[in-house]
Amino acid sequence: MTQAQIHYHLSRFNTSASKLSQCPEDNGAEVAFAGRSNAGKSSALNALTNAKLARTSKTPGRTQLINFFDTNVEDVRLVDLPGYGYAKVPIAMKEHWQKHLDDYLQSRDCLRGVVLMVDVRHPLKEFDQMMIDWCQSAQMPLHILLTKADKLKRGPAQNTLLQLSRTLDVKNDPLITIQLFSALKKTGVDQLRERLSNLLLAEEG
Ligand code: GDP
Repeated sequence: MTQAQIHYHLSRFNTSASKLSQCPEDNGAEVAFAGRSNAGKSSALNALTNAKLARTSKTPGRTQLINFFDTNVEDVRLVDLPGYGYAKVPIAMKEHWQKHLDDYLQSRDCLRGVVLMVDVRHPLKEFDQMMIDWCQSAQMPLHILLTKADKLKRGPAQNTLLQLSRTLDVKNDPLITIQLFSALKKTGVDQLRERLSNLLLAEEG
């Protein structure tokens, strides 16, 4: 697997799952994309893959599902987790979502890392902190995308990056990385691809 190269633009929709038993077989490697609704997750996935992949996940009825995308490398997948805090969803469904997500995160052996989308203008809301805490306690690699970076001037965007890096002490934590990202301007895409490939193609052990 280490010889392989992931060509993200060749990614294709595989399946949607509303419960763990519907997920693809738990082998190979996958990285999951998470974020609050509207954080820019679909746009990031689309920029990453040069495609309208994530539209699939926006189809009504699919917003609460976990969507799996195959890359060109066998058993290497990208996973689109349901956006958190979808306003129109009733409480019962939110609870189902929470359990579904917990099940997935807790039990998926092939999970190699989480990419967390955070709007650069609104860093660290409750859900973000929850995901960060979970990743840290599970020793799960975490890559934070500060999305919509084009909405801030360069200085303030860099400041947010620095501040968050300090808050999370990324210098001393090799499992956490953070970057600025703009799906609109296509900035940060190469950096994201490089981090993903490191996570997805790393030897286990
Ligand atoms: P999701 O709910 O997390 O999947 O978020 P979307 O990708 O659907 O984006 C939510 C809104 O933010 C949409 O109106 C997008 O057009 C906008 N958006 C997403 N990424 C960017 C970006 O990089 N720059 C700007 N300016 N807007 C963005």
